[in-house]
Amino acid sequence: MRKPIISTVFTLAVLALMSCQPEQQQAQSEETQEARTAVDLILSNGKIVTVDEAFTIADTVVVNDGRILEVGDASIADKYQAATLVDLQGKTLMPGFIDSHTHIRGRPQRYIELGEVTSIAEMQRLIRIKADVLGPREWITGYGWSEDVLAEGRKPVRQDLDAAAPNNPITFTRAGGHSAVVSSLALELAGITDATPDPEGGVIERDENGVANGVIRERQGIVGRLVPDSTYEELIGSLALNLNALLAKGITSITDASKSPRDFLMYEEIYGRPGAKLPRSTLQFQWRNPEAIEELKTRVGDGNDFLKIGPIKIFADGGFTGPAAFTNEPYLNQGDYRGYLNMPEEELVALINEIHDAGWQMGIHAIGDAAIELVVDTLADALTRNPRQDHRNYLNHFTMRPTDATMEKMALHNILITQQPNFTYTLEGRYVENLDGWRLEHNNPLRSPMDHGIFVAISSDILPIGPFVGIYAAVTRKGMSGRVFGADEAISVEEAVRGYTINSAYINFDEDIKGSIEPGKLADMIVLSADILSVDAERIMDIEIEQTYVGGELVFSSN
Ligand SMILES: [Zn+2]
Repeated sequence: MRKPIISTVFTLAVLALMSCQPEQQQAQSEETQEARTAVDLILSNGKIVTVDEAFTIADTVVVNDGRILEVGDASIADKYQAATLVDLQGKTLMPGFIDSHTHIRGRPQRYIELGEVTSIAEMQRLIRIKADVLGPREWITGYGWSEDVLAEGRKPVRQDLDAAAPNNPITFTRAGGHSAVVSSLALELAGITDATPDPEGGVIERDENGVANGVIRERQGIVGRLVPDSTYEELIGSLALNLNALLAKGITSITDASKSPRDFLMYEEIYGRPGAKLPRSTLQFQWRNPEAIEELKTRVGDGNDFLKIGPIKIFADGGFTGPAAFTNEPYLNQGDYRGYLNMPEEELVALINEIHDAGWQMGIHAIGDAAIELVVDTLADALTRNPRQDHRNYLNHFTMRPTDATMEKMALHNILITQQPNFTYTLEGRYVENLDGWRLEHNNPLRSPMDHGIFVAISSDILPIGPFVGIYAAVTRKGMSGRVFGADEAISVEEAVRGYTINSAYINFDEDIKGSIEPGKLADMIVLSADILSVDAERIMDIEIEQTYVGGELVFSSN
């Protein structure tokens, strides 16, 4: 496959000679030479998916000083003299992806990345290597396992971890962050025995004999709190690398959720480094109390084009990986279990009102239909009592489809959504295990909220991080197994692309500077290996990122 060719102005004549009508182009160039405006970059001969209001397709984009100067047909290039000229060779160029809900973290030395692990045996191999490096009694942590992709076809339990490193306390958080499996030594150090009652809002899983199996749902902090703090140095080094890695996925902006003021200092340092190649970040602070937020001395929107403050994050309920999403009807085959709220209802209602009255935008985690309905009712009441124009409060996840009345209320009060259609793909096993019938088919609904007039953005929540999984699932409604869930909730590729670009920009009040290739906007753009608009839907996940530009600077290239 041919890759886009980058050349300097000196090779312009050569390119012109290679094209179909070289003489005409050259003559035109000479004629206009005098009047040409010097610019930094021109990308031409592409299929440029601008994602403007009319979803215009263009040929050429002109960039200067980090921003888009002009977009149009091939002839616009004649007005400019570019320091760098890129022949896209017909490739698709689109705005960089904006992942409006994700979690990027720095990781300490004790940490094992489990997102790619496909068996418990592999997990054990990684534990042995880590235990060797760290020595006995040192905590080992990890994130990202999922029983859905493990060859053994089951969750890991404490005995699996003990077998690999009996002398190290271990805690491995499941993908999604709503449960963890910990080793026997970790349980022992935390003082948890088979007789320990479940913590409020969480579950200590036990086998049929009442023996704890090491899995803790929603309240894994009862063990995790024992893990020693990481040093600032080990975290910042790894965070910078993890942020940079997003560029290869075509992600040029993120909303990084559940951050603390301490995290913000780290981001400030990383973004202050000269020459750093990074996506743009909006930090979503976890709400603690009014005093803690007041101490920040910052408001939504403060910052600059690269690092800014976003909304406040709060949790209404759990998720289906725990599972602890708060539902109206009981889970499938689990007695009368309906999950639960992350805090007592009165507390949640008071919190939403408190943050609203403090003037902050909110991004609220709500997964179960009961949680969604409660949050929508509460937001609607708060907005009626104390109206605020352009609040842009949004629900994050919106995994279960609520009643039509709830969706009508969301449209009426402009309550937005950022949703993860990739969950339909990666969490298929969790949904099938816990839900059934209509509510299973309508997991992660997109068509129905859009048809109700609700504004929907799309994001990944790092399950997994790559945007093409979300677009694939939004369009096909397919799970990992290939099973289709509620085909009537499918949206078009164009709608999914808007969700992952301009709509995600809007969620952060950034629609004037990001999310489309239009004059005046930041030149954040990606070149794809295949045309997302015409490729067979089944091939969407095979699309690769060939180039990523942030502010007109080439920050990633696959060759
Ligand atoms: Zn999340």
